[in-house]
Amino acid sequence: MTSPWQRSARGANLLGADGTLGVTIFEEMTTLALAHGAINLGQGFPDEDGPAVVREAAQAAIAAGANQYAPGKGIADLRLAVAEHQERFYGLTPDPEDEIIITTGATEAIAATLLALVGPGDEVLTFEPFYDSYGAIIALAGATHTTAPLLAPDFQPDLAALETAFTDRTKVVLVNNPHNPTGAVFGTAVLGEIVRLARKHDAVIVTDEVYEHLTFGVAHIPVATLPGAAERTLTISSAGKTFSFTGWKIGWLSGPAELVAAVRTVKQFLTYSSGTPFQGAIATGLRLGDEFYAEIAATLAHKRDILSAGLRAAGLDVYTPAGTYFVNADTAPLGITDSLDLARRLPELVGVAAIPVPVFCHPEGAERTRTLLRFAFCKKVPLLEQAAAQLATLRDRL
Ligand code: PMP
Ligand code: GLN
Repeated sequence: MTSPWQRSARGANLLGADGTLGVTIFEEMTTLALAHGAINLGQGFPDEDGPAVVREAAQAAIAAGANQYAPGKGIADLRLAVAEHQERFYGLTPDPEDEIIITTGATEAIAATLLALVGPGDEVLTFEPFYDSYGAIIALAGATHTTAPLLAPDFQPDLAALETAFTDRTKVVLVNNPHNPTGAVFGTAVLGEIVRLARKHDAVIVTDEVYEHLTFGVAHIPVATLPGAAERTLTISSAGKTFSFTGWKIGWLSGPAELVAAVRTVKQFLTYSSGTPFQGAIATGLRLGDEFYAEIAATLAHKRDILSAGLRAAGLDVYTPAGTYFVNADTAPLGITDSLDLARRLPELVGVAAIPVPVFCHPEGAERTRTLLRFAFCKKVPLLEQAAAQLATLRDRL
């Protein structure tokens, strides 16, 4: 017997294959990791806090009484700091008055944007695999989710398949660059094609760039910097990844005033406004010197290399990411045929948690990725080495 709640959740694709829900794959794997005392390389969050100066700014803001509602669009100083950041790194010049809003993480920016822009009859095109909230929010908006595949080993799109995936019903193309879960970073050829096709089909480009500062030896190119893109592009980012404060849930969105106003209209009925004392602190973070930004990427690249070497030594095929917190590895060489099943057993088997890539896919994509696991490397080096040593025992424990 399914309850009305279960029926509506199933309608919005929020229920798992077995008809139960409640938790995302991230929550499920974190809970399993805790239950088994496993090293959690599943949900992407760092095991070290971000800069002390940013933390202290939040503590000082609380002590100074910044504890009531912020303005719905965000405090002026953070909107200004976002504008400065966009100009400093990318030469973009959004007006902090009406072309930027602060959100409760990138998650809310994505939700408010899709709920504002699409409904039944509209298509939202993403790459596949896709970050989990995209599928859920597209479904909640009642729109149709179409996809273009990213294939191993480099997870770059086939441009002909991308063109075919666009239709005149494509209202939004939702880009994620650098890309979770694959770690791919898209260059101007791919981004230029997205812009060309969005213009041809009159689609809005929504771009989730939360990993903008976490690329390894390649430049991050915001879609909005490409010719013809800015007037139809909403750019989303977040403090979680750049500053290692995933629990603060401060994000932002910038783009043309008319589109930003539409998103803000929805945002005001989701959370109304976002964590007041954290906003000023993130303004401090955004203004940190270039050495801060260079160091976070270099530190993470080193961690990527440590974990990748460990996964290879454990017998997995590793797809080296150019950005993000994540490395994908193929378990097929160990005889695995179902990475979801393996992920559910892994914490108990070897004391490591990971995320199965098929959960980021529709059925066809899930078939293509059915032996892939995503491992997060945003952890201290000794922990990554320990995880690699434990994973090396997997072959014998299966
Ligand atoms: N988009 C992507 C691609 C992500 O990986 C995440 C997770 N950090 C989010 C959005 C959500 O970001 P936030 O925690 O700021 O809501
Ligand atoms: N973005 C994080 C990841 O991909 C998870 C955030 C969440 O738990 N929703 O691991």
